[in-house]
Amino acid sequence: MLADEATLMHKHHLLLVAVVTLLTQLCTAQVSTQWKIHDLNRPLPPVIDPATASTPDVPGRAPSDATVLFDGKDLSKWTDKAGKPAKWKVENGYMEVVPETGYIFTRAAFGDCQLHVEFAEPVPPTGESQDRGNSGVFLMGLYEIQVLDSYQNKTYADGQAAAVYGQYPPLVNASRPPGEWQTYDIIFHGPRFTKDGKLLHPARVTVVHNGVLVQDNVLLTGPTAHGKRPPYKLHPEKLPLALQDHGDPVRFRNIWIRGLKED
Ligand code: MG
Repeated sequence: MLADEATLMHKHHLLLVAVVTLLTQLCTAQVSTQWKIHDLNRPLPPVIDPATASTPDVPGRAPSDATVLFDGKDLSKWTDKAGKPAKWKVENGYMEVVPETGYIFTRAAFGDCQLHVEFAEPVPPTGESQDRGNSGVFLMGLYEIQVLDSYQNKTYADGQAAAVYGQYPPLVNASRPPGEWQTYDIIFHGPRFTKDGKLLHPARVTVVHNGVLVQDNVLLTGPTAHGKRPPYKLHPEKLPLALQDHGDPVRFRNIWIRGLKED
């Protein structure tokens, strides 16, 4: 190998190390150097009233610093695609997809967040594979965490319940039988772009399904889609959250969200 070839390879290697280091720093928390260890002057975190857990019959309460998106009473925080009032059914403390009325979207926009969603699959179950209890939680309206009746219902792995649709199967299938309330607790960080639309770093998501870790900080390849993996396209840091109408009367209750602050 020639001497300048070796130097060039060394430079490439250093560049690669720098990029990986930068990406790692973007994706992980750092210990602050602003405060001494156990510094009594360091500001204390805000005190909040935490969430209470749901029971099969009674939905829990959101933490005091959350934005409640659905408390079982009405769809005032939601619209249809055209911005008109959402047409899904509300009764007995839950909302239910009314097939053919379309996706519903939050009036407010959200980016990085902690999201709690509860859903129940139709009883009796009808259809098979993707046609059984299909809906979805669309983070920023673009990135779907699949909602499906995956209890004794085989489909492709990256399309079952709690999959990042078309990208990541869940680590395990933690589905409950249809009719029983299930929970998703989602930690999401949206993608970041440069001003001219180049991807700085991808979206990442962690999902806990019924108390079980099923997506462990996975990096999304771009928006989710059926049969393809489209690339990222520049979009704002906050966009409405959406729930999918896939033609099945899936029910939802106790939906709340907490925006996450930038470091
Ligand atoms: Mg879906």
